Amino acid sequence: MAEQFDVVVSGAGPGGYVAAIRAAQLGFSTACIDDWTSAEGKAAPGGTCTNVGCIPSKALLQSSENFEHAGHAFAEHGIELKDLAIDVKRMLARKDKVVRQNNEGIAYLFKKNKIRFFHGVGRFTGGAAGAWQIEVSGEGAAALSAKNVIIATGSKPRALPAAPFDNKLVLDNEGALAIPAVPKRLGVVGAGVIGLEMGSVWRRLGSQVTILEVLPVFLGAADEQVAAEARKQFTKQGLKIELGVNITRVETGKEVTVEYVDAEGKQESARFDKLIVSIGRVPHTAGLGAEAVGLELDERGFVAVDADCRTNLPGMWAIGDVVRGPMLAHKAEDEGVAVAERIAGQHGHVDFNTVPWVIYTSPEIAWVGQTEAQLKASGVAFRAGSFPFSANGRARALGDVRGFVKILADARTDRILGMHAIGPMVSELIAEGAVAMEFGAGSEDIARICHAHPSLSEAVKEAALAVDKRTLNI
Ligand SMILES: Cc1cc2nc3c(=O)[nH]c(=O)nc-3n(C[C@H](O)[C@H](O)[C@H](O)COP(=O)(O)OP(=O)(O)OC[C@H]3O[C@@H](n4cnc5c(N)ncnc54)[C@H](O)[C@@H]3O)c2cc1C
Repeated sequence: MAEQFDVVVSGAGPGGYVAAIRAAQLGFSTACIDDWTSAEGKAAPGGTCTNVGCIPSKALLQSSENFEHAGHAFAEHGIELKDLAIDVKRMLARKDKVVRQNNEGIAYLFKKNKIRFFHGVGRFTGGAAGAWQIEVSGEGAAALSAKNVIIATGSKPRALPAAPFDNKLVLDNEGALAIPAVPKRLGVVGAGVIGLEMGSVWRRLGSQVTILEVLPVFLGAADEQVAAEARKQFTKQGLKIELGVNITRVETGKEVTVEYVDAEGKQESARFDKLIVSIGRVPHTAGLGAEAVGLELDERGFVAVDADCRTNLPGMWAIGDVVRGPMLAHKAEDEGVAVAERIAGQHGHVDFNTVPWVIYTSPEIAWVGQTEAQLKASGVAFRAGSFPFSANGRARALGDVRGFVKILADARTDRILGMHAIGPMVSELIAEGAVAMEFGAGSEDIARICHAHPSLSEAVKEAALAVDKRTLNI
């Protein structure tokens, strides 16, 4: 006899575990199934984000940034260090500990919210509206019946057709986060968020990093000025970035040889000790049993959903990386909350236009809303104001004056349409832009709000003042 639940969530990534918590808060009997297993053979809820994505990458970015600061920035503060060295094994062990703490935190949240957790693969076996049947195989083997199902099975890395992942020489994100010793020559295919973050980690630790990108423009989704500043900074740091390349062959032996045609049409060849391939991710629906219930996938393999995350089947929803939209943890979480609320008859809401984007390189890059190029393309008249961190007292005290904040506001109404930033801690500053946009604020509102001094957030206020050409500190 199958165990009955109001809501069964498949996948305990940021989308799934947050959806399960919200469903439980709303009074639904809730179960969550997840198949992720740690190296120690234990259940490891948290999905890609916690295990091989957001969390471990930020742990390594922090360790490598500390190392870089110790080597380059400390002397200016009068701090002298001799025999600076990096113990990669310890750095990786710390990263694993951070991951484990997050896994344990999610397991605690399941208990706290009385969510039944099943460790194993969840597969649809049949059923109909109001009683979908799911079989869990693995450690938590069980038969479940669900009135409502939330599919949150996430995504997997996309491989280069010419170079399948072996996680020894050709690495996906999991391999890139666990390189046991600093490679002398590191190749990265793909200059997206993951490629830039992983390339930065290993460059700071001493690798010569070459990033090969098929697209002819750098960070095409970002504001042009931000992208140009980022390229300048990364090049200065020693990241070699080649755009417009066409990889024709990858050969693995003792090392990896990549043959490619460069932007000028010249045949090139590069040899690396490791190659990270970060060319995007594909939806993960294998093993889900979509065919058993007639769940529709779209032409790219994502679970097909409407704007409210409804699938083609009654009472069946899908969220996060396995559906259309940006592959971001916070987008997955917000969709999870919204779906649980819709199941409860409420009006859950996610506005894609106010989903912030962050790249945790140094300097950090962050934006929310529209870019200048997008506004021009859609014929919206706007005013732009920007303010450099070089004129911000806190940034000077921090010793990091790279970059700027830019605010774009509607020329007629002054409503903020976008915020774009590159510089210190802009991953935190971008929240102000998102809040302002959600509240329909104008640049004048931010300009009149009291910001603490000295703080990096004053650069946001000054950028807002700059929209009206009345900055105070420049
Ligand atoms: C290196 C890297 C860095 C990243 N950094 C960031 C960042 O800084 N910020 C950000 O917002 N995003 C980041 N992302 C993206 C982020 O990780 C994803 O957008 C997010 O994890 C998607 O969440 P999800 O819940 O949809 O799926 P996932 O996190 O992929 O979780 C899905 C879970 O479902 C499980 N599962 C799949 N099928 C089944 C099944 N049939 N039965 C049971 N379980 C199943 C999977 O094993 C997994 O545990 C990063 C990604 C990578 C790879």
